[in-house]
Amino acid sequence: MASQVGQYDGQGDGTGENLVNGSSWSPNSWTSKPAKQLPEYNDRSHVERSLAKLQRLPPIVTPTEIEKLKASLRDCAEGKAFLLQGGDCAELFDYCEADAIESKIKLLLQMSLVLIWGLNKPVVRIARMAGQYAKPRSSPTEVVDGKTVPSFRGDILNGYPLDERALDPDRLTSAYFHSAATLNYVRASVSSGIADLHRPLDWGLGHVRDPDLQTKYSEIVSSITESLKFMRTVGADTAGQLQTVDLYTSHEGLLLQYEQALTRSLKNPAPKLAFPGQVPRVEKLNYNTSAHFLWIGDRTRQIDGAHVEFFRGIANPIGIKIGPTTEVTDILSLLRCLNPQQEVGKITLITRMGAGKVRKLLPAHIEAVQKSEYNGKVVWQCDPMHGNTRSTATGIKTRQFGDILSELQQTLALHRELGSHLGGVHLEMTGDAVTECTGGSENLMDDDLSLNYTSFCDPRLNEKQSLELAFLIAGFFRN
Ligand code: PEP
Ligand code: MN
Repeated sequence: MASQVGQYDGQGDGTGENLVNGSSWSPNSWTSKPAKQLPEYNDRSHVERSLAKLQRLPPIVTPTEIEKLKASLRDCAEGKAFLLQGGDCAELFDYCEADAIESKIKLLLQMSLVLIWGLNKPVVRIARMAGQYAKPRSSPTEVVDGKTVPSFRGDILNGYPLDERALDPDRLTSAYFHSAATLNYVRASVSSGIADLHRPLDWGLGHVRDPDLQTKYSEIVSSITESLKFMRTVGADTAGQLQTVDLYTSHEGLLLQYEQALTRSLKNPAPKLAFPGQVPRVEKLNYNTSAHFLWIGDRTRQIDGAHVEFFRGIANPIGIKIGPTTEVTDILSLLRCLNPQQEVGKITLITRMGAGKVRKLLPAHIEAVQKSEYNGKVVWQCDPMHGNTRSTATGIKTRQFGDILSELQQTLALHRELGSHLGGVHLEMTGDAVTECTGGSENLMDDDLSLNYTSFCDPRLNEKQSLELAFLIAGFFRN
């Protein structure tokens, strides 16, 4: 018999059935709900074979790591730490390659150092990586060279080349292996010293054209370098914290068939005690072992929909994208459904309103949470990318650095004005020298975009623009 004590009844009844918030949940209960953005495969038996294989494969991440991240996100909700999350819009299987992985880790690490310096707080790092393979699309088809073809839905579903646009169930297992190989290299690089701050970091600021900015950024870099040198000199690294870092993975939990197959009932390594010294009961929870952190996208957050149904049963920390069309009342319904136990830091609200709308729309959302039982219990994260996409005169999808910065600045100010606080940022970025977003200190113009535009989905900040954004965010907090 399932008990009703917890958000999840890990004891289960042997059928995978659980009671969540008083109603029955199982890893496949989402299948009885209306679903948006999910594929209709033709070859069901082929899909079943791939899913059966996934169910046998070992977890990609473990409950211990997931619970550790949840504890760090609690600090972000309480204003004691800051969350930096970033990576590609659509990760491709081809990005599973040493240089690309290393450049992303290094960029996240450098940005996090700048943020630690600016905020004087620990930074929690989550990569949009090792599984960000499924993309929601506004239309199932698109016109290419006058021909209507299925849209590219991410490497886990179909391929970008026109002759690979049919859905392919083998991609489900391929996604697992590419995630695992990517994360393996992330772990190996981190444990082999890629994050060792005893080595000098290459900050390369030569591109900054404006002499005042060049001076300002160089001063920040010198200050960070001096602080690190000082810590090394006085031997302040007793815990080895300058040698390694925690780096977590995340993706949009869009393709529920895949997410379900990697969801396992596993022992919670950190059960909450009702009183100090209590012998912890063995508690099994439903961990989605495909990534540490998963989020629900702006197109799939319907309260009665399949995605919310799936997410309400998993023990991972989760994000919810909040856009201009999110009703204020929806936020509270979502919080009550997804986090009935009001765990602090369980939910990250990822706001993506757009620079032109944020001042009008965000305050009501912040105030609604403040007036509710969730006050102080969520992480407010700003995604300044998705509300600021525009097309150039020649139809290239881009974002302006100034708009991205403006949404971030306004979001930070609004939280401050209302007595709330911004707990993190969510960026689309890459360690490569792409030309996908305009502006920044290189001052990329619309005409420069074709130089090295390689994204198959949304435009990303390049390495220089990302680092510059970190400098500017750090500056907002120090002022
Ligand atoms: C994304 O993060 O790539 C995305 C599709 O965002 P959103 O759901 O906010 O549009
Ligand atoms: Mn995107």
